[in-house]
Amino acid sequence: MAGELILVVEDDGKSRRLVHDVLEYEGYRVAEATAGDEGVRLAKELVPALILMDIQLPVLDGIAALALIREDPATRTIPVVAVTASAMEHDRPKIRAAGFDGHQHKPINVREFVALVRRMVDSGARGEA
Ligand code: MN
Repeated sequence: MAGELILVVEDDGKSRRLVHDVLEYEGYRVAEATAGDEGVRLAKELVPALILMDIQLPVLDGIAALALIREDPATRTIPVVAVTASAMEHDRPKIRAAGFDGHQHKPINVREFVALVRRMVDSGARGEA
């Protein structure tokens, strides 16, 4: 089923626009935040089916934002995928340890990106461990 809401937290306009356009083309609804704190606020307000989270963000980075999203029972089960620049390869262990549900590289490969999004959305909320 399409039409699910996806929250994109990304401060780079060009990346945000590309992701937005691809998701809309695939039939998803898109909400956008350009800073980590705004992403957390919108996650609580909108409870999207999936969050795509950049790591380097103003105010709160993606890892701190993820921690706040996981702290709140209202947003805890939303799957969150880290979207990171290839230049941040060295941060991979840190990103994995933070507990993201998936990891997507920028610039995105559209076909792989869509497959990942579909898989994450269709698998539904994260299991409550
Ligand atoms: Mn960024």
